[in-house]
Amino acid sequence: MTKNDISAEQIIWYLKEYYKLFKKAPVSTDLTWFPFNRKYVLKYFISWNVALQIANIPLNRNKPKELICKKCNNVFLRQIKEIKKSNNQFCSQSCSASFYTLGRKHTNETKRKISESLKAHKIFIDKSKNKKQKIIKEYYV
Ligand SMILES: [Zn+2]
Repeated sequence: MTKNDISAEQIIWYLKEYYKLFKKAPVSTDLTWFPFNRKYVLKYFISWNVALQIANIPLNRNKPKELICKKCNNVFLRQIKEIKKSNNQFCSQSCSASFYTLGRKHTNETKRKISESLKAHKIFIDKSKNKKQKIIKEYYV
C-alpha cells in the first residue's frame, strides 16, 4: 500500500488500531505512526475529528484546536487555554511580530521617544556592515 491509494476504510482502520494500542485519540500531527498524512484524511472526511468520530474514538479532552495563522495562513495547533490569552493567533513569534510591525505608523510622540532612547543609549550604527550587525556598540551614558 502506498500513500496514494489509501481508502477511507483503511484510514478508519488505522485510527481504530491506534486507539486500541495507545488508548487515546490520535492527533493529526502524529504522522509518524500512520502510513498516510492529514491531507488524505481531509480528502475523505470534513475534518480530523469527524474521522475520529466515525471510527468511534472519543475525542481528547484539552485537544488543541486547529487555527490559521493570520500572517502566513499556515494551519497550526494550539491548546484552547492558550488561544484565550490573545485575540490574534499566529503560528510563530516571528509571524506575530511582523504582523504587528507592518502597517504600524509611528506617531510623532513615539518617534520622539525612540529618538530620545537612542540618544540615551548612545547607539552607534555602522552603515557599512550588513543589517544584522548594524548596531555595533551600545552603552548607557
Ligand atoms: Zn505564520
